[in-house]
Amino acid sequence: MRIANVGNRAVVLVSDDRGFDVQEVSGGRFGPNLASMYERWEEFTAWAKTLSDTAADLVVDRSRLGSPSPAPRQVFAIGLNYSDHAKESGFAQPDTLPPVFTKFPTCITGPDTQVVLPAGGNVDWEVELVAVIGKEAKNVPAARAWEHVAGLSVGQDISERVSQLRGPAPQFGLGKSFPGFGPIGPWLVTPDEFGNPDDLEIGCSIDGEEVQKGRTSELIFSVPALIEGLSHTVTLLPGDIIFTGTPAGVGLGRSPQRFIQPGETLVSRIEGIGEITQTFTTASN
Ligand code: ZN
Repeated sequence: MRIANVGNRAVVLVSDDRGFDVQEVSGGRFGPNLASMYERWEEFTAWAKTLSDTAADLVVDRSRLGSPSPAPRQVFAIGLNYSDHAKESGFAQPDTLPPVFTKFPTCITGPDTQVVLPAGGNVDWEVELVAVIGKEAKNVPAARAWEHVAGLSVGQDISERVSQLRGPAPQFGLGKSFPGFGPIGPWLVTPDEFGNPDDLEIGCSIDGEEVQKGRTSELIFSVPALIEGLSHTVTLLPGDIIFTGTPAGVGLGRSPQRFIQPGETLVSRIEGIGEITQTFTTASN
Protein backbone atom coordinates (compact mmCIF):
# COMPACT_ATOMS: atom_id res chain seq x y z
CA MET A 1 0.00 0.00 0.00
CA ARG A 2 1.09 3.57 -0.69
CA ILE A 3 -0.01 6.40 1.58
CA ALA A 4 0.50 10.06 0.71
CA ASN A 5 0.23 13.31 2.64
CA VAL A 6 -1.89 15.51 0.34
CA GLY A 7 -2.31 19.00 1.75
CA ASN A 8 -1.93 17.53 5.26
CA ARG A 9 -4.61 14.89 4.67
CA ALA A 10 -3.78 11.19 4.52
CA VAL A 11 -4.60 9.57 1.18
CA VAL A 12 -4.35 5.87 0.29
CA LEU A 13 -3.12 5.80 -3.31
CA VAL A 14 -4.28 3.37 -5.98
CA SER A 15 -2.07 5.05 -8.61
CA ASP A 16 0.35 8.00 -8.67
CA ASP A 17 -2.52 10.45 -9.01
CA ARG A 18 -5.64 8.77 -7.65
CA GLY A 19 -6.69 7.61 -4.20
CA PHE A 20 -8.97 7.68 -1.18
CA ASP A 21 -9.13 10.42 1.43
CA VAL A 22 -8.67 8.38 4.61
CA GLN A 23 -10.84 10.47 6.92
CA GLU A 24 -13.74 10.65 4.47
CA VAL A 25 -13.73 6.99 3.49
CA SER A 26 -13.27 5.80 7.10
CA GLY A 27 -16.10 8.02 8.30
CA GLY A 28 -13.73 9.87 10.60
CA ARG A 29 -12.24 6.74 12.19
CA PHE A 30 -8.74 7.59 10.91
CA GLY A 31 -7.07 10.81 9.83
CA PRO A 32 -7.33 13.45 8.67
CA ASN A 33 -3.56 13.83 9.01
CA LEU A 34 -0.91 11.15 8.77
CA ALA A 35 0.76 12.07 12.07
CA SER A 36 -2.29 10.89 14.05
CA MET A 37 -2.46 7.61 12.14
CA TYR A 38 0.98 6.32 13.11
CA GLU A 39 -0.29 5.81 16.68
CA ARG A 40 -2.79 3.22 15.35
CA TRP A 41 -0.88 2.01 12.32
CA GLU A 42 -1.74 -1.70 12.53
CA GLU A 43 -5.42 -0.94 12.98
CA PHE A 44 -5.29 1.52 10.07
CA THR A 45 -3.53 -0.82 7.64
CA ALA A 46 -5.90 -3.67 8.48
CA TRP A 47 -8.83 -1.38 7.66
CA ALA A 48 -7.21 0.07 4.52
CA LYS A 49 -6.70 -3.40 3.04
CA THR A 50 -10.50 -3.78 2.86
CA LEU A 51 -10.85 -0.82 0.44
CA SER A 52 -11.75 -1.49 -3.16
CA ASP A 53 -9.48 0.31 -5.67
CA THR A 54 -12.29 1.02 -8.09
CA ALA A 55 -13.98 3.42 -5.66
CA ALA A 56 -10.96 5.73 -5.44
CA ASP A 57 -12.33 9.04 -6.68
CA LEU A 58 -9.82 11.57 -5.31
CA VAL A 59 -7.50 13.09 -7.91
CA VAL A 60 -4.11 13.76 -6.30
CA ASP A 61 -2.26 16.94 -7.26
CA ARG A 62 1.43 16.11 -6.89
CA SER A 63 2.33 19.72 -6.05
CA ARG A 64 0.33 19.39 -2.80
CA LEU A 65 2.30 16.41 -1.43
CA GLY A 66 3.84 16.86 2.01
CA SER A 67 6.16 14.71 4.09
CA PRO A 68 4.73 11.22 4.73
CA SER A 69 5.60 11.85 8.38
CA PRO A 70 4.97 15.56 8.85
CA ALA A 71 5.51 15.79 12.61
CA PRO A 72 8.14 13.26 13.72
CA ARG A 73 9.08 13.48 17.39
CA GLN A 74 12.52 12.08 16.60
CA VAL A 75 14.55 12.11 13.40
CA PHE A 76 17.57 9.80 13.32
CA ALA A 77 20.22 10.03 10.65
CA ILE A 78 23.02 7.54 10.14
CA GLY A 79 26.49 8.34 8.86
CA LEU A 80 29.03 6.12 7.06
CA ASN A 81 26.59 3.28 6.45
CA TYR A 82 27.83 2.27 2.97
CA SER A 83 31.47 1.12 2.81
CA ASP A 84 32.32 3.07 -0.39
CA HIS A 85 30.93 6.25 1.20
CA ALA A 86 32.87 5.64 4.45
CA LYS A 87 35.99 5.28 2.27
CA GLU A 88 35.37 8.51 0.28
CA SER A 89 34.78 10.30 3.62
CA GLY A 90 38.15 9.10 4.93
CA PHE A 91 36.79 6.84 7.67
CA ALA A 92 37.10 3.16 8.47
CA GLN A 93 34.00 1.03 7.97
CA PRO A 94 32.09 1.01 11.28
CA ASP A 95 31.74 -2.34 13.02
CA THR A 96 29.57 -1.08 15.85
CA LEU A 97 26.51 1.13 15.19
CA PRO A 98 27.61 3.89 12.76
CA PRO A 99 27.52 7.58 13.79
CA VAL A 100 23.97 8.61 14.75
CA PHE A 101 22.90 12.25 14.63
CA THR A 102 19.67 14.17 14.12
CA LYS A 103 18.18 16.37 11.49
CA PHE A 104 16.02 18.75 13.49
CA PRO A 105 12.35 18.18 12.55
CA THR A 106 11.80 21.72 11.19
CA CYS A 107 13.97 20.84 8.17
CA ILE A 108 11.59 18.05 7.08
CA THR A 109 9.49 18.84 3.98
CA GLY A 110 7.52 17.16 1.24
CA PRO A 111 9.04 15.70 -1.91
CA ASP A 112 9.24 18.50 -4.47
CA THR A 113 10.67 21.75 -3.17
CA GLN A 114 12.82 24.77 -3.77
CA VAL A 115 15.69 24.98 -1.29
CA VAL A 116 17.62 28.15 -0.43
CA LEU A 117 21.41 27.70 -0.44
CA PRO A 118 22.82 29.30 2.75
CA ALA A 119 25.24 32.14 1.99
CA GLY A 120 28.88 31.07 2.20
CA GLY A 121 27.96 27.41 2.37
CA ASN A 122 28.93 24.28 0.45
CA VAL A 123 25.69 22.38 -0.01
CA ASP A 124 25.97 18.69 -0.79
CA TRP A 125 23.59 15.89 -1.72
CA GLU A 126 23.00 12.55 0.08
CA VAL A 127 20.21 10.37 -1.27
CA GLU A 128 18.94 8.03 1.45
CA LEU A 129 16.36 5.37 2.09
CA VAL A 130 14.05 6.66 4.82
CA ALA A 131 12.18 4.36 7.20
CA VAL A 132 9.16 5.60 9.16
CA ILE A 133 8.36 3.86 12.45
CA GLY A 134 4.80 2.47 12.76
CA LYS A 135 4.99 0.82 16.16
CA GLU A 136 6.93 1.73 19.30
CA ALA A 137 10.28 -0.06 19.39
CA LYS A 138 12.35 -0.75 22.49
CA ASN A 139 15.00 -3.49 22.50
CA VAL A 140 13.68 -4.95 19.26
CA PRO A 141 15.76 -7.76 17.71
CA ALA A 142 16.56 -7.37 13.99
CA ALA A 143 14.45 -10.41 13.14
CA ARG A 144 11.33 -8.58 14.31
CA ALA A 145 12.30 -5.06 13.25
CA TRP A 146 10.29 -4.84 10.01
CA GLU A 147 7.12 -5.26 12.13
CA HIS A 148 7.91 -1.83 13.57
CA VAL A 149 8.27 -0.08 10.21
CA ALA A 150 5.21 1.69 8.76
CA GLY A 151 6.91 2.13 5.42
CA LEU A 152 9.76 3.40 3.31
CA SER A 153 10.27 6.65 1.46
CA VAL A 154 12.93 8.54 -0.49
CA GLY A 155 14.90 11.15 1.43
CA GLN A 156 17.66 13.66 0.84
CA ASP A 157 20.01 14.35 3.74
CA ILE A 158 21.01 17.74 2.29
CA SER A 159 24.19 18.84 4.04
CA GLU A 160 26.01 22.17 4.33
CA ARG A 161 29.62 21.11 4.74
CA VAL A 162 31.20 24.36 6.02
CA SER A 163 29.04 24.57 9.15
CA GLN A 164 28.97 20.77 9.47
CA LEU A 165 32.75 20.55 9.72
CA ARG A 166 33.60 23.85 11.42
CA GLY A 167 34.92 23.92 15.00
CA PRO A 168 36.56 21.36 17.26
CA ALA A 169 34.03 18.58 16.52
CA PRO A 170 31.61 18.11 13.60
CA GLN A 171 28.22 19.86 13.86
CA PHE A 172 26.20 17.29 11.95
CA GLY A 173 22.88 18.33 13.49
CA LEU A 174 23.17 21.98 12.51
CA GLY A 175 24.88 21.59 9.15
CA LYS A 176 22.12 19.22 7.99
CA SER A 177 19.10 21.09 9.39
CA PHE A 178 18.81 24.32 7.40
CA PRO A 179 15.23 24.99 6.22
CA GLY A 180 14.22 22.48 3.56
CA PHE A 181 17.25 20.22 4.10
CA GLY A 182 15.15 17.10 4.82
CA PRO A 183 12.81 16.49 1.86
CA ILE A 184 10.99 13.15 2.01
CA GLY A 185 8.52 11.44 -0.29
CA PRO A 186 6.88 11.22 -2.63
CA TRP A 187 4.81 8.93 -0.41
CA LEU A 188 5.14 6.07 2.08
CA VAL A 189 5.31 2.52 0.70
CA THR A 190 4.52 -0.26 3.16
CA PRO A 191 7.20 -2.97 3.48
CA ASP A 192 4.92 -5.73 2.11
CA GLU A 193 4.89 -3.97 -1.30
CA PHE A 194 8.52 -4.92 -1.98
CA GLY A 195 9.85 -8.26 -3.20
CA ASN A 196 12.82 -7.60 -0.91
CA PRO A 197 12.68 -4.35 1.10
CA ASP A 198 16.38 -4.79 1.96
CA ASP A 199 17.57 -4.60 -1.67
CA LEU A 200 16.41 -1.53 -3.61
CA GLU A 201 18.29 0.48 -6.22
CA ILE A 202 18.98 4.00 -4.97
CA GLY A 203 20.47 7.02 -6.71
CA CYS A 204 20.33 10.69 -7.55
CA SER A 205 21.24 13.01 -10.39
CA ILE A 206 22.00 16.71 -10.83
CA ASP A 207 20.63 18.29 -14.00
CA GLY A 208 20.38 14.79 -15.46
CA GLU A 209 23.93 13.67 -14.57
CA GLU A 210 23.91 10.65 -12.28
CA VAL A 211 26.02 11.39 -9.19
CA GLN A 212 25.06 8.56 -6.81
CA LYS A 213 23.95 5.01 -7.51
CA GLY A 214 23.85 2.00 -5.25
CA ARG A 215 21.65 -0.66 -3.71
CA THR A 216 20.26 -0.67 -0.18
CA SER A 217 21.56 -4.24 0.15
CA GLU A 218 24.98 -2.55 0.42
CA LEU A 219 24.00 -0.88 3.71
CA ILE A 220 26.51 -1.95 6.38
CA PHE A 221 23.67 -1.76 8.93
CA SER A 222 20.39 -2.71 7.24
CA VAL A 223 17.06 -1.20 8.31
CA PRO A 224 16.47 -4.11 10.76
CA ALA A 225 20.02 -3.83 12.15
CA LEU A 226 19.58 -0.07 12.65
CA ILE A 227 16.29 -0.57 14.48
CA GLU A 228 17.87 -3.20 16.70
CA GLY A 229 20.85 -0.95 17.42
CA LEU A 230 18.91 2.28 17.95
CA SER A 231 16.13 0.70 20.01
CA HIS A 232 18.71 -0.75 22.37
CA THR A 233 19.29 2.81 23.60
CA VAL A 234 16.36 4.96 22.49
CA THR A 235 12.64 4.21 22.38
CA LEU A 236 11.52 4.64 18.76
CA LEU A 237 8.07 6.20 18.50
CA PRO A 238 5.35 5.95 15.85
CA GLY A 239 6.05 8.52 13.12
CA ASP A 240 9.78 8.72 13.89
CA ILE A 241 12.02 8.97 10.82
CA ILE A 242 15.31 7.19 10.16
CA PHE A 243 17.59 8.45 7.37
CA THR A 244 19.60 5.27 6.83
CA GLY A 245 22.79 6.64 5.25
CA THR A 246 24.02 7.51 1.78
CA PRO A 247 25.97 5.57 -0.84
CA ALA A 248 29.19 6.88 -2.43
CA GLY A 249 29.21 9.84 -4.78
CA VAL A 250 28.64 12.90 -2.58
CA GLY A 251 30.28 16.16 -3.64
CA LEU A 252 32.57 16.34 -0.58
CA GLY A 253 34.25 13.06 -1.54
CA ARG A 254 34.99 14.09 -5.15
CA SER A 255 38.24 15.37 -6.58
CA PRO A 256 37.80 18.21 -7.22
CA GLN A 257 34.99 18.66 -4.69
CA ARG A 258 31.64 19.71 -6.13
CA PHE A 259 28.72 21.43 -4.44
CA ILE A 260 25.22 22.40 -5.50
CA GLN A 261 24.95 25.63 -7.51
CA PRO A 262 21.94 27.96 -7.73
CA GLY A 263 19.59 26.87 -10.49
CA GLU A 264 20.57 23.19 -10.35
CA THR A 265 17.97 20.46 -10.02
CA LEU A 266 18.53 17.37 -7.86
CA VAL A 267 16.39 14.30 -8.53
CA SER A 268 16.59 11.43 -6.01
CA ARG A 269 14.99 8.05 -6.57
CA ILE A 270 14.55 4.61 -5.05
CA GLU A 271 13.27 1.57 -6.88
CA GLY A 272 9.70 0.69 -5.95
CA ILE A 273 9.07 4.04 -4.23
CA GLY A 274 9.53 6.91 -6.69
CA GLU A 275 11.48 10.13 -6.93
CA ILE A 276 11.70 13.54 -5.28
CA THR A 277 12.96 16.77 -6.85
CA GLN A 278 14.77 19.74 -5.35
CA THR A 279 15.69 22.95 -7.12
CA PHE A 280 18.14 25.35 -5.50
CA THR A 281 18.26 29.10 -5.27
CA THR A 282 20.22 31.74 -3.40
CA ALA A 283 18.65 33.74 -0.60
CA SER A 284 18.72 36.97 -2.63
CA ASN A 285 16.54 35.52 -5.44
ZN1 ZN B 1 23.37 11.27 5.41
